[in-house]
Amino acid sequence: MQSSFTECGHHCGGHLQPELIIVEFLDSDNNPVPEGTPGEVTITTIGITGMPLLRFKTGDICDRVSGRCECGRNTIRLKPIIGRKGQMIKYKGTTLYPPALNDILDNMPSIKNYIIEVYTNNIGTDDIRVRIGGSDNSEEFIKSVKDSFRSKVRVAPEIVVEAEEKIAKDIFPPMSRKPIKFVDLRDKKQ
Ligand SMILES: [Zn+2]
Repeated sequence: MQSSFTECGHHCGGHLQPELIIVEFLDSDNNPVPEGTPGEVTITTIGITGMPLLRFKTGDICDRVSGRCECGRNTIRLKPIIGRKGQMIKYKGTTLYPPALNDILDNMPSIKNYIIEVYTNNIGTDDIRVRIGGSDNSEEFIKSVKDSFRSKVRVAPEIVVEAEEKIAKDIFPPMSRKPIKFVDLRDKKQ
């Protein structure tokens, strides 16, 4: 699959190689979404006789660009993956994916550590709580964090300030080598 989407020198997405693969972008009801709306990348491989994939759902969500590229090719280009389908968050009328939230917090120098928690609230919808480690609990600081969220993703989650050591402990639970900055606590449907 990797070789089916290769970036050209203009770095504007991975060019589809239509002789290798058929790609579809689907919504949660398996209907195709228009360009400009991210969908689940679903692929069918062509020319592979051993173990072909037929409408294989990758779980990756992304958008694409059509139209001629500056390199001269006119195949569609895949934009960067914005998240995993299973981690999609519906929040205040907006669809969000954890990487975008991590990105906002990772780029705020005043924030030393944090954990994003997504949970199901008492009316059954998704809620987001961001726990930030530090001592600045001022209204001004919390407002600045919320403003960053609003400017990037249009909505602001709940912000809670806790002791930095406490957050650090939760980020690195025993047996985990990778820091955990996103926790999905939602009631699983199905
Ligand atoms: Zn190109």
